[in-house]
Amino acid sequence: MSAPTLQHSSHDAGMVAEEILMIRRCVTCDRLFAPMTAGCSSCSSDDLECVPSSGVGSVVSWRVVDRAGARGGLVPLTVAIVELDEGPWVYASLEGEVPPAEGPVRVQFQPRPRDDRFPVFVV
Ligand SMILES: [Zn+2]
Repeated sequence: MSAPTLQHSSHDAGMVAEEILMIRRCVTCDRLFAPMTAGCSSCSSDDLECVPSSGVGSVVSWRVVDRAGARGGLVPLTVAIVELDEGPWVYASLEGEVPPAEGPVRVQFQPRPRDDRFPVFVV
């Protein structure tokens, strides 16, 4: 396990790239994929480019898991699959209570320092 190298940036500008959730687009067939996707599942091309997403979507499913906290112990974390309005499904951390609604729960990407391996969305 490697030590975290992140330093919390204060009010410095310079994290503009983190303001937008980037997704991947297949250069060959234009399909859109989640950020971590390595190759196109449609045409088998591995020529994917990064494009900005709207950062809004709907929760497909979610659950609460226990995760090791920074100071030891377990911290509950809500992990979810979010279907972006563009179509791709991404794994994400959720902040806020997921309402027990019948309809889709709308969430919005939140820019955060990269201290997590999932993008963070808020309900
Ligand atoms: Zn493709």
